[in-house]
Amino acid sequence: MIMARASNKTNPARELVFGDLWEYDAAPETAAPKLKKRYDLFINGQFVAPKKGKYFTTINPGTEVKIADIALGGAADVDAACKAAQKAFTTVWGPMPGKERGKYLYRIARLLQDHAREFAVAETMDGGKPIKESRDFDLPMAAAHFFYHAGWADKLPYLAAGRQVAPYGVVGQVIPWNFPLLMLAWKIAPALAAGNCVVLKPAETTSLTALKFGEICQEAGLPPGVVNIVSGAGETGAAVINHPLTSKVAFTGSTEVGKLIMRSLAGTEKKMTLELGGKAANIVFEDAPLDQAVEGIINGIFFNQGHVCCAGSRLLVQESVAGEVLARLKRRLATLRVGDPLDKNTDIGAINSKEQLGKITELVKAGVAEGAEMHQSACQLPAKGFYFRPTLFAKVSMSHRIAREEIFGPVLSMLTFRTLEEAVEKANNTPYGLSAGVWTDKGSKILKMSTLLKAGVVWANTYNKFDPASPFGGYKESGFGREGGKQGLMDYCKVG
Ligand code: NAP
Ligand code: MG
Repeated sequence: MIMARASNKTNPARELVFGDLWEYDAAPETAAPKLKKRYDLFINGQFVAPKKGKYFTTINPGTEVKIADIALGGAADVDAACKAAQKAFTTVWGPMPGKERGKYLYRIARLLQDHAREFAVAETMDGGKPIKESRDFDLPMAAAHFFYHAGWADKLPYLAAGRQVAPYGVVGQVIPWNFPLLMLAWKIAPALAAGNCVVLKPAETTSLTALKFGEICQEAGLPPGVVNIVSGAGETGAAVINHPLTSKVAFTGSTEVGKLIMRSLAGTEKKMTLELGGKAANIVFEDAPLDQAVEGIINGIFFNQGHVCCAGSRLLVQESVAGEVLARLKRRLATLRVGDPLDKNTDIGAINSKEQLGKITELVKAGVAEGAEMHQSACQLPAKGFYFRPTLFAKVSMSHRIAREEIFGPVLSMLTFRTLEEAVEKANNTPYGLSAGVWTDKGSKILKMSTLLKAGVVWANTYNKFDPASPFGGYKESGFGREGGKQGLMDYCKVG
């Protein structure tokens, strides 16, 4: 339908504007998951009030309406959680045969499927992502991670042939706000499969589904203390990371906090994995199938409002097709539906927080001031809530801040190149190295690029594809260690 209107026969050169979009009736998902007014900490199998009795508010960024009060965990709560985890590790979970541990993981995976709609709505209300993403991506992927790792629980001896594989004990985990439940699954599923017990700190703006996961643990009959969720602020995260009982820590978040963590753990025997920021290059060669490439570019940056560490935020296009790609992108930009995250037609939902909206706005202003050419969709934004128009910058040079700094929003910066070597040079010219994309008709070019690009993941003729069996992680300031696959599981095991 949109395509029919896009090919305007009377004036093919005319660009699509928002008014050309066929307006759909609103199709909101019912905003009534089983939510409580107050969420306590999940420690030793029970929901408990924080020792200092403090709570903070979590709001819906799509409406700015309060959802619930969330417990603010302090050092004493983290201590109780770590002790509960240590006890569970030594008395129940550590000694339990892998085959039995696997059954719990299967149970958790199935319960996530059973509660998928409820969790998807809660995730969208708390974080702002479109319901079609939380429903079709976050929830199925979170369940898939538990299914995948359930299968590993009784096969650990095959992880490293001929070597002893053992869990660490208590693992401390801190996660960000962009994929709250999925990041939890990436962290908890391999840790439990390997025989560890966990203390996890979710991000302040998105604690809801992590605390609801405590309900899943209860329903699964998981022994108390195996999983502990301590919500709170940055200091709560620091208390988890630095607690003497956590012998391995796993952090996903900003490079800035990652560096703080490295400094604080230097000289200790703690094992560490860090998944940090990114500034991925999505590289389009002149022989690429341009229609697919344009969809891939759009998915690569506008998926989840660009709140994606591996977002294809730098588009590198071969000069000979740059004009054509820009024209197609501008047309496609105008058809993206921005609005109510709970509406099933929404492509781009709400920015996660007012603070993040401020950061995006500041960097976009810098892009304009530094001379890049800005194209924004002309769509109407809801009056309430944190929204940002999908934005495309052309005529960007490598020195511009929008080409160097992580924006973590729906903002794409387009640069051009002439030769493969120039594309590689520009793509690798960043302190980050998490992911990259390559669009070309030539298999040999894909293979060459995948060895030359310094990125943990290189997607070819696709973007943002994930699988629990496939390891994910970075180079350089994007961190170290892997999540997913055999490599990710190894990071939760002592290999003797
Ligand atoms: P952030 O500020 O680093 O926060 C991440 C988590 O760390 C939050 O739970 C945060 O708590 C906590 N935290 C803050 N200060 C801490 C400290 N001193 N010690 C321990 N924990 C602390 O990152 P963010 O802004 O939430 O997330 C966006 C960043 O994450 C981006 O840079 C993105 O690229 C990165 N990211 C990377 C990946 C990956 O796989 N590589 C995946 C997703 C996101 P509060 O919420 O209370 O501040
Ligand atoms: Mg919230």
